[in-house]
This record gives sequence, C-alpha cells and structure tokens, in this order.
Amino acid sequence: MKIRAAVLERTGGPHHVDELELAAPREGEVLVRLKASGVCHSDQNAIDGTAETPCPAVLGHEGAGIVEAVGPRVTRVRPGDHVALSWAPSCGACEECLRGLNHLCGTAWPAMGVGGLMDGTTRLSRDGEPVFHYSFISSFADATVVPERSCVPIPHDVPFEIAGLVGCAISTGVGAVWRTAGVRPGDRVAIVGCGGVGLSALLGAVAAGAGAVVAVDMLQAKLDVACDLGASDAVLWAGSAEATAEAVVEASGGGVDYAIEATGRPEAMRAAFLSTRARGAAVLIGIPREDAVVELPALSIPRKERRVLGSLYGSTYPERDFRHILDLYRRGRLPLDKLVSHRLPLDDIDRAFELLLGGGAARVVLELA
Ligand SMILES: [Zn+2]
Ligand SMILES: [Zn+2]
Repeated sequence: MKIRAAVLERTGGPHHVDELELAAPREGEVLVRLKASGVCHSDQNAIDGTAETPCPAVLGHEGAGIVEAVGPRVTRVRPGDHVALSWAPSCGACEECLRGLNHLCGTAWPAMGVGGLMDGTTRLSRDGEPVFHYSFISSFADATVVPERSCVPIPHDVPFEIAGLVGCAISTGVGAVWRTAGVRPGDRVAIVGCGGVGLSALLGAVAAGAGAVVAVDMLQAKLDVACDLGASDAVLWAGSAEATAEAVVEASGGGVDYAIEATGRPEAMRAAFLSTRARGAAVLIGIPREDAVVELPALSIPRKERRVLGSLYGSTYPERDFRHILDLYRRGRLPLDKLVSHRLPLDDIDRAFELLLGGGAARVVLELA
C-alpha cells in the first residue's frame, strides 16, 4: 500500500515528506494506521548524528493508532484495536528477558541498529529501493508495520496523542521514578532537565507521593511549567554542576533521595549526583554522546553510599506499565495532557524539531491520519 511519510534522506536532514510503499505485515507483524506521534530528542539524535541510523529512514518512535491488519500467527491484537507502540519489542526468551529485564532484551537491541524489523528486513521502500525503519516504529507516517510485541492495546477512550507519548517520553520518565528508583512517599526528588521526559518524571514523582520535588533547568519558562505540574521548588541552572547542586541541596532541605537526570549532558549528570543526600542516587536517563565521560567525587560513593542508577525506557515492562500509567491518567491522577504543548501536521515536521531544539516546547505531537 501507499503511505505518506516524512523521510530523513541522510544524516543531518532535513525531512522530506514523500509517498512510500509499505509492504503487508509478515508473520508476527501488525499494520497500524497511525493517529499521532510525539517528537522525541532521540529522533533528533538520529538526525544530527549523535546516534546515527541507516538512511533514508522514517523516524518517529512515539506513536499510537488503530490496528488495520495482522500478519500470520498474530495473537495479541486484532483489527480495530487501539494500540500504543513500544520500541522495545522483547523476545521473552533471551537471558535478559528471563531475568525480567525485557526492556534490555538481547535480541531486539541488535536488530534495531540495522534499520529493519525483527528479521532485519524492511517493509518500507520507494521506487523499489529500501527505506529503513527506526526503532521498529517509524511513526512519522500515516501507517506503519511493526512487530506484534510492539503493540500494547489501550482503552478506546484514551486520546491517541497521550497514548503515543506513553510509548516513549512518559514511560521513560514515569518509569525512571517508579521502576528504576522506586520512589516512596516522602522521598525527596530532583528533576534535572524539564523537557518531555523530565516533566513526565516529575508527574510520576508527584503521583508517587514524593516530598520535595525540585525542578532544575536552564530555561525559566520550563521551570514555570514544572511548577505548574507540581514541582515544590525550581532551580535555574547556576553555571556549574557544583553551584546548581548546592541550590538543589538547599531547596530540598539537605539533598535528595533521587536526582533524575534527563538531558544526557555530563555536567547535568554531575549536578544530579552532587544533589543527592547520603544513600541517594542519581538516576541517569538522558542519552549522552558516545564518548562522554562523567567525573564524580569518588570518596562520597562509599562514605555516603551515594549511587548511580542507569535507566532505559524507565526500566518498564510496556505491556504492564503502559496500562498502569493510562489507568492513573484516566482517573485524573496523572495529568498527562499537560505535557502536550504543540500539535502540528506531518508536513510541519521540520518546524516540530525547531520547537524541540528551541526549548520552548514540553512535547510536540504530530497529528496523523
Ligand atoms: Zn523517545
Ligand atoms: Zn529477549
């Protein structure tokens, strides 16, 4: 079938909206008519080469839509189901999956890098030449073929733009708080970097009953949004990790139990670590450059039992956690709709990335078919 998609022709961009051929779903695959897609910083990393991806490619990995057709042996979903898409379609059988770490699945990760689906081949093409997938999802299009295990059915009353964001930013942020950190009522939390993922972490911390929640960012406008979403204090980046952490320690009443870092910048990671109290942990979500190094004061690690926790996809199990998150949203406990700051058509894709880079947006959503 023919689809309209935003094609990244080469690393560096820009995007070019074009007509592509989408092949039918094969065994274990599902054709989804896309309704909405968030625009994520990881897509930007693919555009600017921070994390290179094979091109030409259709980016986007934060999508939701309606199942239109299924390939042979698909049992999880049926045509008509509303689905949020997970970019971590775990195999359920490898060593990591058997340890309960499905988001670190040892078979899905290597397959992702070549720009195909789970078998390494593409369903996207143009004039007979292959066009690559991105993170198995390729949601900057009006339809896509994805692995069955990427499809998480959702209730029909959930807006597609919310379901799309649950597919990446929201699960990554909320999960880092609930699953990686395990924030308990009264814990003090800092959020370093208030983009879509950081703000999601903030909402997760508020919902979990955190005590102080200190928001940190370089832009006052983002801190204002954070305060509107429930941050108890706001700290403007003070020029260095040390000075910023000092302000967080002061605002939180002596340092935080968990400092959630959502920028990927080594200085922000350092600030997160230095903001923690004894037994506190820096939870690192942001994706740094491949050659990045973080320097930490080593003595305080044993002396104060300070910790560093990595967090990928919020350590979530999408099939379980998407539903938990959406359930709290439907009951008014997680005001996820406040994360959507802009809605644009697919043709405005480059404008969406300008908004993302400009820092004025919480989350930009592309409205699709
Ligand atoms: Zn993402
Ligand atoms: Zn696996």
